[in-house]
Amino acid sequence: MKTIPYWLDQPLPGVVTGASPRPADVVIVGGGVTGCSCALTLARGGLRVRVFEAREVAGGASGRNGGFALRGLCPGYDEARALLGREGARAAWELTERALDGMSALAGDALRRVGSVRLAVDDSERAGLRVEYEALREDGFAAEWLDHLPDPLSRLFVGGFVHPADGALSPALWVRRLAAHAAAAGAEIVAHTAVDRSVIDAFDVETVVIAVDGMTDALAHELGAVVMPTRGQVLATEPLPELLYPRPHYARGGYDYWQQLPDGRLILGGRRDTDRGREQTSVEVTTAFIQDQLDDFASQLFGRSLPVTHRWAGFWGQTLDLLPLAGRLPGSERIWVAGGYSGHGNVLGFACGELVARAILGEPAPELELFDPARAQALESRPT
Ligand SMILES: Cc1cc2nc3c(=O)[nH]c(=O)nc-3n(C[C@H](O)[C@H](O)[C@H](O)COP(=O)(O)OP(=O)(O)OC[C@H]3O[C@@H](n4cnc5c(N)ncnc54)[C@H](O)[C@@H]3O)c2cc1C
Repeated sequence: MKTIPYWLDQPLPGVVTGASPRPADVVIVGGGVTGCSCALTLARGGLRVRVFEAREVAGGASGRNGGFALRGLCPGYDEARALLGREGARAAWELTERALDGMSALAGDALRRVGSVRLAVDDSERAGLRVEYEALREDGFAAEWLDHLPDPLSRLFVGGFVHPADGALSPALWVRRLAAHAAAAGAEIVAHTAVDRSVIDAFDVETVVIAVDGMTDALAHELGAVVMPTRGQVLATEPLPELLYPRPHYARGGYDYWQQLPDGRLILGGRRDTDRGREQTSVEVTTAFIQDQLDDFASQLFGRSLPVTHRWAGFWGQTLDLLPLAGRLPGSERIWVAGGYSGHGNVLGFACGELVARAILGEPAPELELFDPARAQALESRPT
């Protein structure tokens, strides 16, 4: 049994360039999807960029996740309308649909646009999904209601719908390729180099971007009360002979998620809602309590116990309103932040890295206002 994520246990391209003696215009802290996306746009925009990564590129959540490339935000579309207004929600969904297309152009076979399937375990969840589905259709977004679930889904679920343009990622491979694009555009990538806040404050550069999602509270203490590290656990099996779930599937409000890779291997994660207290952590280890439940759920999906090869944990940044934090750090002119995707960062991270880069290049996009970290004070003081 391996505790390295399956995705990081594959042959991956190396992308580390090291630092040149030239001064940088922008330093980015974090070599995940956000930092690499930001680096690519900045480097293509003509700035000298240096990325510092404490581990290896994609060594954080970007190489440890479920591999779902979903449009939208953590809240469903109907909930996002309530939070951001109808035009705000529409803008956020369009932003992420464009981001998915942008990822497709860069990822090669690390992204497969197979769609995703959102499922309901009971009538109450199905009613909620119907509301989201209607809201999406009303605003012109593609979604396909499933009147009859095919076997074996009909044994365990009562309804759902398909997001046809979503995708399945090989996330570590994707982010390594993204980093390679950034390096080819001139970005410098320095791995195995952690920087703390005192180093950030002392950097002799005009602009710094903090792109560390689950570690945002540690480096941007200004946001510490509104973004919290949250752990997710995953397992991978040996390739299975039957291919029952070729697309990303998720149910129970997203607390259960699984997909099979083209070779039949099952990737399955979730169940953190059964142990919320202990899963609110940045300690990157698995627990028997969650992993036993993942085994049970995998058995239910296939009708037999399955041969597991990898078990791993990772953590992301969860915000109080479940919306990202992307923009200038409150109180600072030179430090920017992008993170807090609340477990939904594969596409959003790519989008927010680019949004922040465009603003630094002097071309701020209107969508950036939706995620302004300046809302932190209001969030912090709102009644719980
Ligand atoms: C188990 C799990 C399942 C998930 N499933 C999905 C999914 O299916 N779909 C989805 O959309 N999202 C999913 N997510 C969330 C998604 O993975 C993240 O939101 C996204 O990868 C965040 O990317 P990032 O680049 O912002 O952060 P990260 O990928 O975490 O990268 C930040 C990097 O910063 C580095 N770093 C931290 N501190 C420092 C420092 N002081 N100095 C230098 N470097 C530092 C870290 O080593 C890390 O590599 C999941 C996350 C987990 C953990």
